[in-house]
Amino acid sequence: MILRNALLPDGSRHDIELKDGRIAAFLPPSAVEAFGLILPPLVDGHIHLDKTLLGLPWVPNQAAGNEVSDRIVAEREVRARRTASETETGANLVKQVLASGTLHMRTHVDVDNQLGLRNLEAILQVREQFRHLATIEIVAFPQSGIARSPGTAELLDEAISQGADLVGGLDPVGIDGDLEGHLDTIFAIAARRGAGLDIHLHDGGESGIAQVMAIAARTKANGLNGKVAISHAFALGSVPHDLAARTADSLAESGVAIMSHGPGAAAMPPIKLLRERGVEVFAGSDNIRDAWSPFGNGDMLDRAMMIGYRANFRHDSDLELVFDLVTAAGARVLGVADYGLRVGGPADLVVVEAASVAEAVATRPRRKVVIKTGRLIARDGALVP
Ligand SMILES: [Zn+2]
Repeated sequence: MILRNALLPDGSRHDIELKDGRIAAFLPPSAVEAFGLILPPLVDGHIHLDKTLLGLPWVPNQAAGNEVSDRIVAEREVRARRTASETETGANLVKQVLASGTLHMRTHVDVDNQLGLRNLEAILQVREQFRHLATIEIVAFPQSGIARSPGTAELLDEAISQGADLVGGLDPVGIDGDLEGHLDTIFAIAARRGAGLDIHLHDGGESGIAQVMAIAARTKANGLNGKVAISHAFALGSVPHDLAARTADSLAESGVAIMSHGPGAAAMPPIKLLRERGVEVFAGSDNIRDAWSPFGNGDMLDRAMMIGYRANFRHDSDLELVFDLVTAAGARVLGVADYGLRVGGPADLVVVEAASVAEAVATRPRRKVVIKTGRLIARDGALVP
């Protein structure tokens, strides 16, 4: 297959030869109508495939209050009444994100003493169903806490042995009220199983910063540089610049990455400051049409726009930065080694109508074509049969 007169993110034009599932050559461009802007596959660094209710009739959000703890209670009720399995709704969401050009994702999967490993089993099935189209990394996520959901520590350990890739965590202080106990548990499982960690941290202010610092210190002490992420880390956006900068230096030194989804109302980590200080920053959708959020569609170009909007980004270089969060940075954090538009690289690409990456982030055009290992998998925003 040859994609004629295709525009690359660096502004150059080429005919792109795809052969045996790989990019075989960038050739001089043919004098034909332009094919479009070629992007590398999008990467969703934080999704919840087991939570989504996508495909079901609309479910109104019924959380009694606006705290994380209120939403945990509401979700347990929604779970009990759901009329389609997590396998079915998870597959609905994977199909939707594939059609938008996302080929790599990290999903958190709820593990607690009500569910046991039921959601993990469902999402392991989904991963198997789509293994030829997508890489799906799984985090065993203690959504109900660890100390306050007895039995969860053992379940997290069992989840890793059954196929989850990383150990999750949740607000060690805000939910469990036990910073050291929570981190002792999850870092011990990670060490025993040789797994990385990705910890949800909503706690803000100085308490949140203390937790970020504790995670960085343990990451360094355990030699887990590059294998630990903190998701949300709202605290970094809610403290004075100097404290955020010092915390960023510790994150960079210990190799802890930060994930943001461009939160609606909560403080957002200062993306440019983190990057300037050498911290890896990546992005994800977080909740999509579930008990936590009515919003979201899994489109990582939309997500890049939202993050840029929240950060008050305007220049092309800033839009290119948020594009990096939803592509190459995500691939680095997820350990997707075979990634990127280069000769010899995988023939995985996304085509849109735009004159530049910046325009693609600003306008989020429909995906004309999504190609996976040289095969057309989606056209005009829909999966091909
Ligand atoms: Zn999440």
